[in-house]
Amino acid sequence: MKTLDTLKPLTERLLEVQHLHSAASLLSWDQETYMPPGGGEARADQLSTLQTMAHDKLVSPEIEALLAKWVDQATGQALEIAGDAWDEPSRALLREVWRDFSRAKKLPSDFVKKLSRECSLAQQIWAEARKKSDFKLFLPNLRTIIALKREETQYLGYKDSPYDALLDTYEPGATAAQLAPLFAALKDRLVPLLNRVVASPVKIDDSPLTRSYDPSRQVEFGKLVLTAMGYDFDRGRLDLSSHPFTTSFHPTDVRVTTRVYERELPACLFSCLHEGGHGLYDQGLDQARYGTPLGEALSLGIHESQSRLWENCVGRSRPFWHCFYPLLQRTFPDQLGDVTLDRFYATINRVAPSLIRVEADELTYNLHIMLRFEIEQNLIEGRTQAEDLPAIWNEGMKNCLGLVPERDAEGVLQDVHWSLGAFGYFPTYTLGNLYAVQFYDQACLELPNLEAEIEAGRLTVLTKWLNQKIHRWGRSFTADHLAQRVTGRSLSPEPFLAYLEKKFGTLYGLIGSDTGRETQRRA
Ligand code: ZN
Repeated sequence: MKTLDTLKPLTERLLEVQHLHSAASLLSWDQETYMPPGGGEARADQLSTLQTMAHDKLVSPEIEALLAKWVDQATGQALEIAGDAWDEPSRALLREVWRDFSRAKKLPSDFVKKLSRECSLAQQIWAEARKKSDFKLFLPNLRTIIALKREETQYLGYKDSPYDALLDTYEPGATAAQLAPLFAALKDRLVPLLNRVVASPVKIDDSPLTRSYDPSRQVEFGKLVLTAMGYDFDRGRLDLSSHPFTTSFHPTDVRVTTRVYERELPACLFSCLHEGGHGLYDQGLDQARYGTPLGEALSLGIHESQSRLWENCVGRSRPFWHCFYPLLQRTFPDQLGDVTLDRFYATINRVAPSLIRVEADELTYNLHIMLRFEIEQNLIEGRTQAEDLPAIWNEGMKNCLGLVPERDAEGVLQDVHWSLGAFGYFPTYTLGNLYAVQFYDQACLELPNLEAEIEAGRLTVLTKWLNQKIHRWGRSFTADHLAQRVTGRSLSPEPFLAYLEKKFGTLYGLIGSDTGRETQRRA
């Protein structure tokens, strides 16, 4: 049986590619946290050089020759020689390296360099355009990026839609045709549920969340929660950035960021839980497999499932606050002394259609994604032009959430993704929401005392389960295979919808009134 030892000539080269990626990630982390604004242009060049080097190293003749020896290039699977088969990890490693290699090989080096540089510049122009709420300022860069991404789809190839080639970058194997019915099924039940919540006589006043909260105490509380989750500060750190994110250079150095506003308690709190979920995934990857796909996160959808599971299934649940609310009250006695646990639980779960995706509640969040999914496809398929985006955006918001932004900063300019060339990224947020609940339901089944453990603040019971079931496997399985292994079935919108209907039905008094109506009908 051939094992990973056989693959050493390959994994040693991959390690060098990973070192270049890690160096680039460190430069990006610095760009978002501490770099002075004047450093932007030089940083774009530095990043572009490193990314081009990593790309060239991956598609080098040496790696190509090794893969030619070990991989069936027609199927992308490990070549089996009779009597001397590969073990399971080696087969997975070869399948995944081939995927990365063959995708990278299709992109000319000059193109990679150009795209990287344009994106780095566009991101900075976007930030300025958003600040000034001036879409026209960003338009020329956006046009360039869209043209480059369309060019990329031609290099990568696709079966049905060019958008699939981009989606596959973030969620291997996912296609627009597959996602469309999943999203439609979600929308069919989300919209009626939202309408019932909005019409409910239960109104939640969340004004306690906008009292004055000392920023440094907020960050301290965030650290306390991260520590309780099992996030290891010996192998990580928490910094401030305008958009919270997680980045990893190695499982021993995984960094998270948060943002803090004095009069907006949820911002720091839930971004710590969210990024902490991402951070646990990256800290939980197998160190011995670092530099190979087996030591990398499976997909963005699976990554997001980890952050959403902690942020929502745990962090917006009653058992979690049973333990942590007294601590929060002690941290902010003047602000929360008069707010009961029940009231606090309601305020952090208040549903209200809003303009900004990252501030959206669990119920409306996916409607924001569906709008972006539709717009992205049309842009990449050439049905929509960049200059029409503000009008299309506002119309879409009106249709799905009944709101129209007054300024583009709160509309089409709100997200960084398109400036980074990250088309096909948004759907992974919704996939993450769905996987999160499906995984969490399974954890509750397998760990019958889980809620009691969470109530007692022993969160690492869950961390260990996630590590065993998900983190440590890296890219050993496809996302679908992982879902089947962990939960016994493929991804389904059902657990997520049932979770929302139960949670918000209870909170907004819909479940009781429903039974009432049925009784009346029967009577
Ligand atoms: Zn996330």
